[in-house]
Amino acid sequence: MTISMFNALTIDVEDYWSIFFRDWLHIEAEPSDAVVKNTKWFLQTLGEFNIKATFFVLGEVAEKFPELVKEIACKGHEVGVHGFYHKKIFELDSDTFKKEVGSAKKLLEDITGQKVLGHRAPAFSFNADTQWALEVLAECGFKYDSSISPAQGSRLGWPGFKKEIHRANLPSGKSILEVPMSAVSLGIVELRVGGGYMRHFPYLYTKLAVKTIQRKRPVVLYVHPYEIDVQELALNTDNLTRKQRKRALQFHKMQLRNRNTVGWKFTKLLNEFKFTSIREVINSTAENEASL
Ligand SMILES: [Zn+2]
Repeated sequence: MTISMFNALTIDVEDYWSIFFRDWLHIEAEPSDAVVKNTKWFLQTLGEFNIKATFFVLGEVAEKFPELVKEIACKGHEVGVHGFYHKKIFELDSDTFKKEVGSAKKLLEDITGQKVLGHRAPAFSFNADTQWALEVLAECGFKYDSSISPAQGSRLGWPGFKKEIHRANLPSGKSILEVPMSAVSLGIVELRVGGGYMRHFPYLYTKLAVKTIQRKRPVVLYVHPYEIDVQELALNTDNLTRKQRKRALQFHKMQLRNRNTVGWKFTKLLNEFKFTSIREVINSTAENEASL
């Protein structure tokens, strides 16, 4: 395989607060405007560096903010699916998963007028028990998946999974390209590159991780728009009980930690390394050429 000099930059577009309300407080809440504001920061920064990325967008965000999705596509970035309501794969059965990813794919294709090729599962929730989901993705017409975290010692992931981009042959006879998340070995644990690891660890960790991995294969780095947001809670807490409100505020306080470092760390990375979308990384490797 020809080693690409370019790494893959991926941005999982979700509204933190609607997911928090749903998963932790069991209250349905639509995505807030914060997702638009934060995603626009990434669009502008990438524009300044003339770098393209892959934006995996949640169906519910696309439904409420179609103009944002249009803007991502118009600026030449790749748009992929990040589920519809951010449900982890192991919480869903095959039919519900198919409905989630199928409707999100159709919605994104209708908005952008472009074919959607890729999928990123919420919370990297692929493991050896949810292999069936790769079959569903192939059936729905996805050309690649980028969800599997081969990290050992991680709560969510598939330890021992192959780290290179490769074609996974499925029991049905279909196949799909897998673009695994990058992992760094540190003795008995392996850590991902981006997200909370970029936010909470010193910049040097991400820099050394990218430098080391890209000698062997393209890095797959991820980040969320909300990670740069240092503002107050974006959703209305008036209707919460005292207990729920306390929980939300405590959670928010914890989540704000180190968010003020993400902007400069991200910008520094763009300065020091080469990044592009997953689509371009796949197209630039001889083995995968013409596979999209
Ligand atoms: Zn997510």
